Amino acid sequence: MEILILAEEANGGLHRMSREAVAAAQAFAADAGLDTALLVLGATPDAAAAEAATLDVGELLVAADPLLAGGDSDLVAEAICQVVAAEHPTYLVLGHTYRARDILPKVSARLAAPLLADVIAYEVSDGEPRFTKQLFNGRLAATLAPAEARPVIVTFQAAAYAADAAAAGSPPRRDVAITLDPATARCKAEPPLREAEGETVDLTGADLIVSVGRGLGGEENLPVIRELADALGAELACSRPVVDAGWLPQTRQVGSSGQTVAPKLYLALGISGAAQHQVGMKGAASIVAVNTDPEAPIFDIADYGVVGDLLEVAPKLTELLRAAQ
Ligand SMILES: Cc1cc2nc3c(=O)[nH]c(=O)nc-3n(C[C@H](O)[C@H](O)[C@H](O)COP(=O)(O)OP(=O)(O)OC[C@H]3O[C@@H](n4cnc5c(N)ncnc54)[C@H](O)[C@@H]3O)c2cc1C
Repeated sequence: MEILILAEEANGGLHRMSREAVAAAQAFAADAGLDTALLVLGATPDAAAAEAATLDVGELLVAADPLLAGGDSDLVAEAICQVVAAEHPTYLVLGHTYRARDILPKVSARLAAPLLADVIAYEVSDGEPRFTKQLFNGRLAATLAPAEARPVIVTFQAAAYAADAAAAGSPPRRDVAITLDPATARCKAEPPLREAEGETVDLTGADLIVSVGRGLGGEENLPVIRELADALGAELACSRPVVDAGWLPQTRQVGSSGQTVAPKLYLALGISGAAQHQVGMKGAASIVAVNTDPEAPIFDIADYGVVGDLLEVAPKLTELLRAAQ
């Protein structure tokens, strides 16, 4: 096959970003006139395979080996290399997950295959595919033409394609053989990291989000933001530095290592708009940004922008909202 999509298992099914990768690969395959297959790997990948069997791909490949139980990246990379050697895909496509970041450099090095990571879009012109990725915190977009070596490994950034856009189907299933040697594993994986205990917040279903960044200046200014969120009836969210500083818990972080949200309104206060933040919120229907820096990248994707100090703007908004209630 020409496009081999690598699925990742999560929570007894497919990782959301694997569904996004399927959506991206389906679109790319249609535009480039290529066929697709979806590979599910694991010790007992039945649940992921069952979900994968509902997607519109040319073929579903399943590779099982008990040694994959620990998720060791050397073993997974070896399994992928064996399937690639047997199937000769032109492209390997997957989501830019943490697992992908761990495993793909090994696969790329072993196969001497180009790795185009964190791609946000593709185009096909005169039969030649080109891939776009962001540079310098989203300030520049680079168009990449893969080298001649095959396969070309492409990972798609979170939310670059909508998981819901993955078309449904019922592909034929084929089990593929892999032979793994435990000596390949050079490290022992710990069980998957659990989220910190305590407050759990699902921002993904929120219609209104007030999100704050490093521009807040300090934890002592949080009440100003909480009051605005309360007046609006919105969930409170934040960028990663706010979590790193301990001002808000990780469960409220939006971005590539936080939650991906799609509210009707996303109010970004003192957030620069780095690529890793944007991937988590650019699906919002309306983005309003408040930032002292008129050149902040957040203004490139904002529908409305205020160049100003959030500590002045937020209380005024709260006042206006309260007056309107
Ligand atoms: C692997 C990896 C994963 C990451 N994951 C995430 C993630 O999930 N989520 C995430 O957010 N980031 C993530 N990051 C970090 C990301 O690259 C940025 O560093 C981060 O998003 C910046 O956060 P910020 O906009 O709050 O801070 P900054 O970039 O420091 O921006 C602060 C902004 O506030 C403005 N400002 C300052 N004072 C005021 C004021 N008084 N009023 C108004 N505006 C003001 C400034 O002009 C500036 O634009 C990740 C990075 C890596 C490498």
